[in-house]
Formats: sequence, C-alpha cells, structure tokens
Amino acid sequence: MRVTSFGSGSSGNALLIQSGGTNVLIDAGLAVRRLRAGLAAAGVPDGGLDALLLSHEHHDHVSAVPSLIRYHHGPIFATRGTMRALEVARPDRWETLAAERPCRIGTLEITPIAVPHDAAEPVGFFIDDGSIRVAIFTDLGSPAALLRDAVARAHLVVLEANYDLELLERGPYPAYLKRRIRSGHGHLSNDECGELLTQSLTSVTVDIWLAHLSENNNRPALAEQTVTRWLGAGSNGPRVRPLPRHGRPAVWDAAAALQRPRQLGLPLP
Ligand SMILES: [Zn+2]
Ligand SMILES: [Zn+2]
Repeated sequence: MRVTSFGSGSSGNALLIQSGGTNVLIDAGLAVRRLRAGLAAAGVPDGGLDALLLSHEHHDHVSAVPSLIRYHHGPIFATRGTMRALEVARPDRWETLAAERPCRIGTLEITPIAVPHDAAEPVGFFIDDGSIRVAIFTDLGSPAALLRDAVARAHLVVLEANYDLELLERGPYPAYLKRRIRSGHGHLSNDECGELLTQSLTSVTVDIWLAHLSENNNRPALAEQTVTRWLGAGSNGPRVRPLPRHGRPAVWDAAAALQRPRQLGLPLP
C-alpha cells in the first residue's frame, strides 16, 4: 500500500490510497490543477481513480469536487448528511457511506467512523487492504471510542494535531472562533492528539502523520515535539511526522516502512 498526502490543513486536504491497482482519493480540497498533477505523478492519470471519498462538506475538503469529477468518472462516496449539506444535484454518481458500515472498493475495505465535528455528518476512515491498515482522522473535536480501536490496529495513523493551546489563546482569532476550535466539535490540539495516541497505540503502528496543522495556531516542530513528549522520552516507537500544509507531497510506502528496523517500547496489541 502507498499513501500520498497532497496537502493537509485549512488550505486544502487530499490523500491518495493505492493498493493492488486500486486508487482511492480521500477528500479533494485543493486546486484541481494541482490535484490532477499530483495524481498523475503518483501514477493515476485522468480517469484512473476508482472512487472519491469525502469526510465532510467543509470547503477545505471538497472545493475541487465539481471540477475533479469531470476528469475522474468513478463513484463519489459520502454520508447522507454530507450529501445533503453539499446539495448534491445529480445523485446518480453518489454512493452513501454509513458510519461503522464497511464498504469494499477494489482491493480496499473502507470503514467510515463517525467523528465529533461541526459538520452535518462527518466521518474518519479505517482502511484495510487485507494486510496493511491505515487510520485517517482529521477535523474532530474530541476522540470517539471507535477511533481508538482503529488507531490501535493501524500501521499508519493520520491524526489531527491542529493547534497548540497557548498559541491559540495568545493568537489573533476572535473569542467565538477560539471557542469553536477548542470545543468538542472543533479540532484536536497537539496535546489532545498526543494523549489520544498514548492511550490507543499498540506496537502495530510504525508511522504517525500529524495532520491538519493550523497555520496561525501551530508550528510543525512544536506539534512534533508535543506529541513525541506524550509518547515518552526518546520516543522508542512509531516515527512522528507533521504533514506539510502544501508543497511537495508526503508519501508513505508500507513495504519500506515495515522493513525499517523496529525499536521496542510500546505494549503489544
Ligand atoms: Zn478541515
Ligand atoms: Zn472541517
């Protein structure tokens, strides 16, 4: 399995999952030209996507959908709430996702998992190709129970580390926006991300991607430090990497990641 992040954060999100000839894109919130170029570079030319899955209707996750689906003709998966919020005009290409109900797309079994966020019916995803598993959770205000199980079983965990509480409090945002971000239906802070990982991780996980970092209320090095501190001194365990907001895509290759010498330190599942 190969996972590619083309961008992560409020300026746009899109994540490509490739396994055994199946290509699935999670969210399409970047400029369509950039997205098409990124997909082509990853070996997915126009028409090559098997499906597009949407986590929720916020602009940074769906802005390219109307243009992208002119170049890719596969189905678009979203929850009923997301579809309603997007006012989908032509439902013929759309398939309904339901939380906790796995769906099969080519070689992949994909389970949407409900997350608390201020959108109509937002979900994260647990993706399994039969040997490799990935958990993808961005845009959530607090950890939901099923999410912990997904994190515990995933080789790659993509988890939101949106803000540093002190930077948010000191920052320029108006009080109502600060409250919204901090709330149980807003975004996860670096500390909440670290705490959740500490409570849920097992020795299965080899890599952690910190996702959806705020430009104003976070710094990549600070997010990495905070989460690594939660994971324990010396961080004998999974490798922690903050995802770039834009720029060069980040790529995870399962075969290479699993071959890397493992350090011990985390409990067995
Ligand atoms: Zn978002
Ligand atoms: Zn959102």
